[in-house]
Amino acid sequence: MTGTTGNVLLESRNLKRYFRLDHLRYVHAVDDVSLVIHTNEILGLVGESGSGKSTFGKTLLGLHDKTAGEVLYRGEVLPARYRSADFQRFARSMQMIFQDPYSSLNPRMTAGEIIAEGLRLRSDAKPQAVRDEVARWLGQVGLSPDHGSRYPHEFSGGQRQRIGIARAMIVEPEFVVCDEPISALDVSVQAQVINLLADLKFKFGLTMLFIAHDLSMVRYVSDRMAVMYLGALAEVGPADDVFFRPMHPYTQMLVASNPEPDPVVERHRSPEPIQGEIPSPINVGPGCRFAGRCPKVMDRCRQTTPELLPVRDLNSRDLNSNATRQVACHLYG
Ligand code: SF4
Repeated sequence: MTGTTGNVLLESRNLKRYFRLDHLRYVHAVDDVSLVIHTNEILGLVGESGSGKSTFGKTLLGLHDKTAGEVLYRGEVLPARYRSADFQRFARSMQMIFQDPYSSLNPRMTAGEIIAEGLRLRSDAKPQAVRDEVARWLGQVGLSPDHGSRYPHEFSGGQRQRIGIARAMIVEPEFVVCDEPISALDVSVQAQVINLLADLKFKFGLTMLFIAHDLSMVRYVSDRMAVMYLGALAEVGPADDVFFRPMHPYTQMLVASNPEPDPVVERHRSPEPIQGEIPSPINVGPGCRFAGRCPKVMDRCRQTTPELLPVRDLNSRDLNSNATRQVACHLYG
């Protein structure tokens, strides 16, 4: 999927989010992440569980206070505290679609009330206008107007995720973080929800951070892909380039272990299981975070932390690839 433009909508600069365990130990959930997200692009963010993907998404939106660094929206630095009145200027422009459509909807509210929540916070929203907008958004996400009076338990998982999408979209955001939006759904409905998100992106010119485990799905839906390992970025680039020609040894391992969506091809292929486990993110020291699992580890890797630097991909079909492919590995510099 293409459509990336050069305009930066959102940017993290040296963003850190640590969680304090006790007076000596911190979980380095997000550690010095600098990343740009362009207007009208879908940036896929992949990595194993515990890599910090969701924490990064929530810190971008101010749902977690940051430990250090900054987030810029349209070039303006976001206020540090989400609850501050200053932050509310940005809050409507940035929404989140949650992983679990079962727990993210209030069981005591109807679908219509849930979807209307964002609009009701606006003092100028008249009741009839709210009802009309809810009906419009039920339709946009593939539900019917009478679904608005039903409760969450009356819906399937896929329908609940559609309600969550309508709730996020009704306030007309520019930027949406989709946090593992399909991982709790049956395989049969995952593609429907992905196609709905892709349609909304084109119709409304949305910009998205799409967080997921499934590399094939992320490649399908994303313009660019970023790979996260133990709170830091390992690789960033055009989605097809990263998927078909991974450069970082961790990305290579992720791609090799990724099941092939086509069952016929999958039968003739043996995905390699990921070796080892992601280490503890508590008080991460210097050196490459992947050194303990990397088949290409060198002495230097254990002492010096590799920076995320531009790398040439001579086989890229993306004309901007030379500028956009970045890898954090001593094999490349
Ligand atoms: Fe492997 Fe060294 Fe590259 Fe880290 S820096 S991924 S240990 S080769």
